[in-house]
Amino acid sequence: TATPDASSTHDTRSAALFHRASKVTPGGVNSPVRAFGSVGGNPPFFASGSGPLLTDVDGKTYVDLVCSWGPMILGHAHPAVVEAVRSTALAGLSFGAPTEGEVELAEEIVARIAPVEQVRLVNSGTEATMSAVRLARGFTGRSKIVKFAGCYHGHVDALLADAGSGLATFGLPTSPGVTGAQAGDTVVVPYNDLAAVRAAFEANPGEIAAVITEAAAGNMGTVPPVPGFNEGLRELTREHGALLIMDEVMTGFRASPTGWHGIDGVSGDLMTFGKVMSGGLPAAAFGGRADVMAHLAPNGPVYQAGTLSGNPVAVAAGLASLRAADADVYAALDRNAETLGRLLGEALAAEGVPHRVQNAGTLLSVFFTDEPVTNYEQAKAAQTWRFPAFFHALLERGVYGPPSAFETWFVSSALDDDAFSRIADALPHAARAAA
Ligand code: PLP
Repeated sequence: TATPDASSTHDTRSAALFHRASKVTPGGVNSPVRAFGSVGGNPPFFASGSGPLLTDVDGKTYVDLVCSWGPMILGHAHPAVVEAVRSTALAGLSFGAPTEGEVELAEEIVARIAPVEQVRLVNSGTEATMSAVRLARGFTGRSKIVKFAGCYHGHVDALLADAGSGLATFGLPTSPGVTGAQAGDTVVVPYNDLAAVRAAFEANPGEIAAVITEAAAGNMGTVPPVPGFNEGLRELTREHGALLIMDEVMTGFRASPTGWHGIDGVSGDLMTFGKVMSGGLPAAAFGGRADVMAHLAPNGPVYQAGTLSGNPVAVAAGLASLRAADADVYAALDRNAETLGRLLGEALAAEGVPHRVQNAGTLLSVFFTDEPVTNYEQAKAAQTWRFPAFFHALLERGVYGPPSAFETWFVSSALDDDAFSRIADALPHAARAAA
């Protein structure tokens, strides 16, 4: 992992802050990939964001292609979202008791996502998947969970095996601190491999509570499900009396107005959401079939709770963000993802760098390989050594992409002509650096 260079003069405020941060926070960051561990160098510390741009504490601006890892589909400091946060905050920050906004956000999610009949609000995607897994176990009376190598569902103990995202960045197969018992109930199989899922059911008869999958994988880079894969999971889970948990934390309300479900129509018994539905504040949700959700406390025996769950300010940000994301916003997301993918492809082709730009709706990433990437082994086999130079050449020119070869690039609807001309100017340099 990155450590700040103790001998450096800290000639930027970001470098000085990273140095200070590293004294009081492990690795200087509150989430590992932010430390630039796999790309090297000091991360910029951001002071503000507006529309498509971020500004760091040294006053340098960047076109943002990370969007806080997904939430900021409208760009930064969208006026309607900021106003909703401001006016809600003025009326009080947290009551730990029901509020009208929670009802409205739940209704919005239930109205948009057909398989979701009931929803519970939580604070992070991790909590959403953790709770969905517990509920699936409680509902079925079974222990085991099938997950896919390269899929990340947050830092839930049982789901950290072969988990993509930061674990892929740092080359970790799992995490110390996860007990054998916790990991022992997790069956990991290759993504996009229905035969492996079938074999897992046959090897564990009557024991699998749920299959959890990213609706379209984005945490080993962007790897969409091959045609028929999600449908096959739906059939296999039904056949074996297990639940299907569709993790839409990344794809929800981004891949389309109704998430990945709006693209392939496959219904999870339980579904998880976060990121976009939070408007950039800490909020997430899990929901699904009413008969399954009925097993949750207080009506049922499966316990789940949260002091700040359904926090009024977070709920207001999420609602304002979902409401502002109209057809024009989704059209812009489509256009911007298409343009970014095309510019990436053209620049790398011009330098003869082997590459695949892969899309899952408006999610995309670039793999340095000529072969299609359909699973984690293939993602790891790409020429990731090219990535740090590519990344830093963009960063230097004010284009902030994800600081890891295994992360998805996120566009916002706020990317404008100026932003794209900056990207178009920077990319040839980055492609040359990667060659
Ligand atoms: N599920 C998926 C698909 C994710 O991409 C993430 C985070 O990136 C999570 C769950 C965890 O969400 P959070 O980081 O809010 O805990």
